[in-house]
Amino acid sequence: MAARSCPVRHGTWVILGSSILALTLSGCTIGHLEHGEEYELSALRVVFLDASQIQAKYEEITGQSAVVTTPRLALETQRGEEVVVGFYDFRTQTIYCPKMDFEVCGHELHHAVLGHFHLHQ
Ligand SMILES: [Zn+2]
Repeated sequence: MAARSCPVRHGTWVILGSSILALTLSGCTIGHLEHGEEYELSALRVVFLDASQIQAKYEEITGQSAVVTTPRLALETQRGEEVVVGFYDFRTQTIYCPKMDFEVCGHELHHAVLGHFHLHQ
């Protein structure tokens, strides 16, 4: 997924995102730090949106279509459509993902922590 978004009230989401992160990390890192990796984000904003809002936000921010045909070099019959389901905006340090979708939101959290980890295509 390249980058995987209608802003609501800013303050509300910042507090919510921080709370979720704090709850998640508090139970997982105790006693395991010496064998694990620790990251601390100075700022992280989380915006939960539905699928159509995420695509609209992605197009607004990137200026690119949220729907792409891939892979470009495949035979016509093997091509499929890929849709942006969530993304991390590095500029504003904001995750846009569907609420309670742990796979997508977790994926974008990894971008917030690790940066760009996909192979360049
Ligand atoms: Zn990704």
